[in-house]
Amino acid sequence: MLLERLSSELGHRANDGLERCRRIAESPCAAHQSFAFDAQHMSEGDLSSRKPTLGFGSNDYLGLANHPEVVAAYADGAKRYGGGGGSSHLVGGHSRAHEELETRLAGLLTKQIPDVNALFFSSGYMANVSVLTALGDRSSAIFADKLNHASLIDGALLARAKSHRYPHGQLHVLRNQLSESDSQVKLIVTDAVFSMDGDVADIPSLLKLAKEFDAWLVVDDAHGFGVLGENGKGSLSHFGLYSERFIYIGTLGKAAGVAGAFVAAHRIVIDWLMQTARGYIYTTATPPAVPHALCVSLDVLAGDEGEKRRCHLKDIIHATREGIEGIVRAHPHLHWSLGDSLTAIQPLLIGDNRETLAVASRMQNRGIWTPAIRPPTVPAGTARLRISLSAAHSMSDVEELISGLSKVAREHVQ
Ligand SMILES: *Cc1c(COP(=O)(O)O)cnc(C)c1O
Repeated sequence: MLLERLSSELGHRANDGLERCRRIAESPCAAHQSFAFDAQHMSEGDLSSRKPTLGFGSNDYLGLANHPEVVAAYADGAKRYGGGGGSSHLVGGHSRAHEELETRLAGLLTKQIPDVNALFFSSGYMANVSVLTALGDRSSAIFADKLNHASLIDGALLARAKSHRYPHGQLHVLRNQLSESDSQVKLIVTDAVFSMDGDVADIPSLLKLAKEFDAWLVVDDAHGFGVLGENGKGSLSHFGLYSERFIYIGTLGKAAGVAGAFVAAHRIVIDWLMQTARGYIYTTATPPAVPHALCVSLDVLAGDEGEKRRCHLKDIIHATREGIEGIVRAHPHLHWSLGDSLTAIQPLLIGDNRETLAVASRMQNRGIWTPAIRPPTVPAGTARLRISLSAAHSMSDVEELISGLSKVAREHVQ
């Protein structure tokens, strides 16, 4: 009975075009990458095609995931520290490499947060859940943008705080919610760059509200760290803001190309997290080779090479937008639209789940991977291709994307 229930539920999902399947990467993360489909879901694609695909699905915005210096540092870190850390941070797993990484990360945020320290977590998901549960409790209130990342939503639930969600970007609603709240501890929580739309939160206005209502401002910069701001220092630097109210979360598996995440905040907040954050305390430290590789990836990211890569990424973003806008204009009856994003995340909104899957699969047949994102990751009726750009893409990769998409749009008409 239990199995039948799950199986029937899975059937419903498949009927609604909501089934998800994995592709098996056979080569490093790169613009051109070889994939196979997992055998259970052969219908989703051609199992025999293991030719490199031109991919627009990674969050490796600077192309550092397979950077030779980062890869070499990984190997060096493993030689120096071994394969695993062995225990949690507070019990002995905190290596010299972890310590060094935290010092460097704090160094990147000194112009944004007074007396800043940083704490390294195994993943962004864990950092977000940990921050909200460590700073919030039953008597606090959390104010969150409705399009925030799932990990922030889960953190609010787990904190058992009073949860208020405001419609995406509607700060007048947030203001009302704040003014009606009598909670002692208030946390305003936002993605800096929204992960499925690519638009940037109005952090300056959010900070004003945080000051007015004496709230923390938790900023999840998973898609801004490494990409936006001076030397890629992220969204707070992008807006030139400075405040002790910031609780800044950067993830290190996206633009930084490796894995993990960090929280940067006033040293008293970091001390509190180290003492109380359950996702920090009750888990084995990441293998030290990870922070060791991250120190090298941060050198590249914040240096001249990082700057060149950010410049190239901007050109690619511009060309992609121009190309897709042309396609959208040429086929008004398809009702496709390009989201209003100036970042590496470019969403082509199609709407219907099955139609979006069909477009993604036709792109796949042309050797181009543009992932179809469907509910519950995005609101119902807003299924989309999430086209994610990287400095690893060349201009001719973008031309191939545009020409493929243009052909698929034309086929769609017939
Ligand atoms: C990817 C992502 C996370 C989770 O980070 P991981 O390190 O992948 O666990 C958190 N927030 C946002 C907005 C993200 O896009």
